[in-house]
Amino acid sequence: MKSAEHPAEADRLAFLKRIQILDTEREQIYDDFVTLAAAICEVPIAMISLVDKERQWFKSKMGVEDQETPRDCSFCTHTILGSEPMIIEDATQDPRVSDSILVTGELHFRFYAGVPVTIHGYPMGALCVVDTEPRNLTKAQETSLVVLARQLSQCLESRLEQMRLEEAKSKQEDEESNLELARRRFEDLFQNMAVACYTTDIEGIVYEFNQQAEELFGCKAWEIFGKVDTDHFVLEEDKSKALELRTKVVRGQSVQGQERKVRALNHEEIWTLFSARPLLNDQRSVTGVINVYHDIAARKKMESELSEMNRALESLASTDALTEIPNRRWISDYLEAQFADEKNTVSIILLDVDNFKSYNDDFGHQAGDQVLRTVGKIIERSCRGGDRVGRYGGEEFIVVLPNTGLREAKIVAERMRSEIENALWEARKVTASFGVASRDQATESLSQLVSVADIRLYSAKDLGRNRVVASATNHVSQVA
Ligand code: GH3
Ligand code: MG
Ligand code: MG
Repeated sequence: MKSAEHPAEADRLAFLKRIQILDTEREQIYDDFVTLAAAICEVPIAMISLVDKERQWFKSKMGVEDQETPRDCSFCTHTILGSEPMIIEDATQDPRVSDSILVTGELHFRFYAGVPVTIHGYPMGALCVVDTEPRNLTKAQETSLVVLARQLSQCLESRLEQMRLEEAKSKQEDEESNLELARRRFEDLFQNMAVACYTTDIEGIVYEFNQQAEELFGCKAWEIFGKVDTDHFVLEEDKSKALELRTKVVRGQSVQGQERKVRALNHEEIWTLFSARPLLNDQRSVTGVINVYHDIAARKKMESELSEMNRALESLASTDALTEIPNRRWISDYLEAQFADEKNTVSIILLDVDNFKSYNDDFGHQAGDQVLRTVGKIIERSCRGGDRVGRYGGEEFIVVLPNTGLREAKIVAERMRSEIENALWEARKVTASFGVASRDQATESLSQLVSVADIRLYSAKDLGRNRVVASATNHVSQVA
């Protein structure tokens, strides 16, 4: 005999596979159907036959040993072609099954009544009753068998529904466990980041805070949870800028590498490099802010030490070691800068300590050094706002007086001369001679201006020292 094939065989088999019932253990509920069917129909054999591609497999059976048979000897393979009960009073007389091994073999099937059981209208197999003698069912028995088959179909539908629920549940569990895994991975990454990092909502309320942040801000995460970061970490004077930046991030922009001094909870202030990014949800809208802080205190300290060192070096390079007033290089640059401005009526005073060689000879070089220091201080003291003094060489000094005419410069020089002369000198009185020159229409160059002052200084020496010469006429302004 040949097994019949259902017109929607593929879909039918797909459902059968879907409910995962083939080759499963016995279940009471299915056995109850078989027991009831056999009892109602008063037969020795009954089964739930599920018609697989090549076989029929019995989910429940009574009166037969085998768990399955090849499909081509199956009665039920014919039953599932229709929707009505298939009743064969004597199988030997039915050409569809007369040559089936179930009929010709030891099992000796004769009477068969089967009703299809379905899922969504697709037959999975049949609930059937069998006898080894030809016979028939009463109408009531047939109706009962149909009712039982309908119940059994319901049972299979429920099984499908349960499968669906379980699959959905396991999918949800998978998703939840993936989510949990992702959450743990994020937490691990976040906590072990090498920079201080915390997240806030759009109002700045902190809700995640990593270990580096705990270290930087000197607090435990729980101490800051639920509080607004700007109220605690930002200096008063930076608050409005910090709020401005947060608004920028909440609008979707990032903030990169801003230097910000933050305040730890123990009030320590620390220089940091601050960056922030918007925190987005699934719909890509901003729900908060990720704040990152690099501790740059060490860098800042180094920078300030470096600039301090630079300042010191610069001052060393421009200061005369003995008198601690600007050296020749610095004062020359200053003079050059003043002279470069053509509108600047710059004046200069050159002065030279009188008879200094003999001072050194009489009182020693160290006493001479002290005289130079004191002269430097006196002339610095006699300067006005923009005037600058420099040591020009040996016991020679220069004063640069920006925007000063000859008359005024001469007055300044005279004051200096008088202050030196009248200072309280330990060993003996010290005096100096002065040459004053001012830029005027005849001045061609800076070096010319300096040599005019130099010539006048030597005139002062020639005229007897301790005096100011401010003109080429050998006019002596004051004689001591
Ligand atoms: P004049 O009045 O003509 O200027 O005479 P003078 O002796 O001051 O001039 P001279 O050029 O003959 O001597 C300058 C002296 O200044 C010689 C030098 O040893 C001394 N001198 C230069 N620099 C220093 C210094 O740094 N310390 C000391 N103690 N003496 C210095
Ligand atoms: Mg000299
Ligand atoms: Mg001298």
